[in-house]
Amino acid sequence: MTSRIETQKTAPTKLLLTLGLAVTLSFSAICGWVLWQAGGRDYLHSREAAANLVSSLASEIDRNIELYDLSLQAVVDGIKLAEIDKISPELRQVVLFDRAATAKDMGSILVTDRLGKVVLDSRSLVPAEANYSGRDFFQIHVRQADAGLYISRPWVAPDGQYLIGFSRRISNPDGSFGGIVAGSLRVSYFHNLFRKLTYGPKDSMNLISADGTILMRAPFDIDTIGQSLRKSQVFQQFPRAQNGWYETASILDGVRRLFVFQQVGHHPLLIVEGVSLETIYADWWREVWLIGSIMLALCAITMALTVFLALALKRRTAAESQLALLASTDGLTGLYNRRKFDEVLSSEWRRSQRSAGPLALLMIDADSFKAYNDTHGHQAGDAALASIAECIANGTRRASDLSARYGGEEFAVLLPGESIEGACRIAEEIRASVLSLRSQQHGRPDICPTISIGVASLVPQVGLAPRDLVKSADLALYEAKHAGRNRTVAAPTPLSARRDRAA
Ligand code: GH3
Ligand code: MG
Ligand code: MG
Repeated sequence: MTSRIETQKTAPTKLLLTLGLAVTLSFSAICGWVLWQAGGRDYLHSREAAANLVSSLASEIDRNIELYDLSLQAVVDGIKLAEIDKISPELRQVVLFDRAATAKDMGSILVTDRLGKVVLDSRSLVPAEANYSGRDFFQIHVRQADAGLYISRPWVAPDGQYLIGFSRRISNPDGSFGGIVAGSLRVSYFHNLFRKLTYGPKDSMNLISADGTILMRAPFDIDTIGQSLRKSQVFQQFPRAQNGWYETASILDGVRRLFVFQQVGHHPLLIVEGVSLETIYADWWREVWLIGSIMLALCAITMALTVFLALALKRRTAAESQLALLASTDGLTGLYNRRKFDEVLSSEWRRSQRSAGPLALLMIDADSFKAYNDTHGHQAGDAALASIAECIANGTRRASDLSARYGGEEFAVLLPGESIEGACRIAEEIRASVLSLRSQQHGRPDICPTISIGVASLVPQVGLAPRDLVKSADLALYEAKHAGRNRTVAAPTPLSARRDRAA
């Protein structure tokens, strides 16, 4: 046993580092989860806000269309009156158009005959020359008696304004086609409506017809009016669903947006709001950067503190180990000291007791050392003791063997599991190696003293104590001295007979 004092130095340090890392990772994970949840909530709020907005816009537009439609229906009903052709143009104007809705963006209401020729104009007794037979809002009623209120594709009026037409069929009493009642609405109505809203820089608001034609778009871009969004993802849901949402990159500008759509009443019109993901997550990203940076700094501080503590702990553990080593080591010889010897003797005694195995002890004493000191001086004496200690340390082989300085010029070697024969063999080897030191000293045979060894080995039994083993080995040593020194004497034990091994 050269250094039994190697405790688990690195274990607490590793545990501390692992704990520090685990705490840091846990905090980061919790923080990441909370932020992720917050991002999800922001997305949901944006979707709900967009749904509310498109819904109220759709209601507003629907209400206006309904009002306009009521005016058209009033004209259709009026035309059917038998007396309508018999009254004066002024009176007819009042009867037919008195209930007509008027607003800044609404055009006059026109009535055509079955060939598309304008025959009545709500704003003029003498209608301007015009024929709408080629227009989609005329043709649809020619073909379909039940077309109801038809909302046309946008077209550009002579004054440059974009208009969309609203028309209803006039049927003769026999059900045949008798003409149409048509009104128009400036697309700028929607422009003004959209302009009042506030958007993020990359958001969009669209009014599209059921065939995908863009009627109005905010931010306004004249080139987009009339473009087709037929391939838009909205048509994967509409007309099956009147409202819904999806997330995709816009086919117009490539910006990734959350789109929320709502049909305007039962009309072939859709309001589609696109909220860019940049807008949705703008606040969230600010939070992520702020909390993330704080979290990163805290993690770094925690890890730095952990490493600092781990290093301090490592240094302290090493110092403690060093102290423990010093406390159990003899300074002159480097062997274990008496205190350590007593400690290990007790523990090995108990171990041998449990295993019912032998425990052997060598008591070694330098011969005539007083005289040696007197002759060569104390320093030479110290050197001689160190040399003897080296021979003793080299003489033991097993990890459980323990060599100690017992006191003064005396040494003790504890040999767990060794029989008296084995112990004597080891004792003789040590004695021989001390003797060989003398021959190496080139003509100075007195440079190292000889040693005498008392050997004892016994199996710990009830009624015996460690001191009995020491006493037994001591007696054998005494006998070795008495017999002339420089020899090994085995103590008489029940396990072995007494033997003298003289040099
Ligand atoms: P014996 O053969 O009977 O053992 O005779 P001895 O002279 O060795 O025994 P004694 O007990 O009379 O003397 C022991 C001497 O060992 C006395 C002491 O000065 C010396 N001694 C003890 N410890 C040390 C030490 O650490 N260094 C030196 N140089 N001498 C020591
Ligand atoms: Mg002595
Ligand atoms: Mg002595």
